[in-house]
Amino acid sequence: MLDVLIFAPHPDDAELAAGGTIVKLVKQDFKVGIIDLTAGEMGTYGTKEQRLKEAQTAKKVLGINLRENLALPDGRLPFLKDEQPAFTLADKIREFQPKIVLLPYWVDRHPDHVATSHLVQQALHFAKLTKISLTFPAHKINLAVYYELNGSFTPSFFVDISEEFEVKKKAIMSHKSQFKAFTREFLPFPVEERCRYYGALINVAYAEAFLTQQPLQLSNWKLLLKSD
Ligand SMILES: [Zn+2]
Repeated sequence: MLDVLIFAPHPDDAELAAGGTIVKLVKQDFKVGIIDLTAGEMGTYGTKEQRLKEAQTAKKVLGINLRENLALPDGRLPFLKDEQPAFTLADKIREFQPKIVLLPYWVDRHPDHVATSHLVQQALHFAKLTKISLTFPAHKINLAVYYELNGSFTPSFFVDISEEFEVKKKAIMSHKSQFKAFTREFLPFPVEERCRYYGALINVAYAEAFLTQQPLQLSNWKLLLKSD
């Protein structure tokens, strides 16, 4: 059983987009897992085996409970036409029964990222339908939360990751075959600059931003009395 399950298209995407938040959740005793849809075998650098090993190294850095890889075909996710991949994901949601699922924002220049967003949305729907028979019984999550890769949205909320930023960086750099240095030249998008920008918006050093399609309610206003 997991509290939070993150679906990611490629083995480095979860940490690039939400690594600081993942570390923060682990610190707060949330049970967190990442399921990567592909092994990233179509990337210019690194073999499938190297990338799976790097993902496991990053798992240890993040301190999460689970990291699986579904070995779907990298670069071809938009061409998966039948229902099976969505059923596979739905069964994972049923198996781990998360309250919260993180998935990529549906606007992105990378076709695999867009396809993952749609695939997870479909899987969340299948997961809750009792009349769809899979290995595990139906499960409905509380909240789907979108994270940014190459696209950008107007965030619904921010997470202060000032204390977690160095661990996020270490988790990203665990993907040695992908990133020679933690700079704009090697990263797919300016990770540090983005976290600094979001941090500036909430008056902290670094932050990550997230989107929800449903409005969030805040019943306990005690949270607003906190000075930090
Ligand atoms: Zn990716």
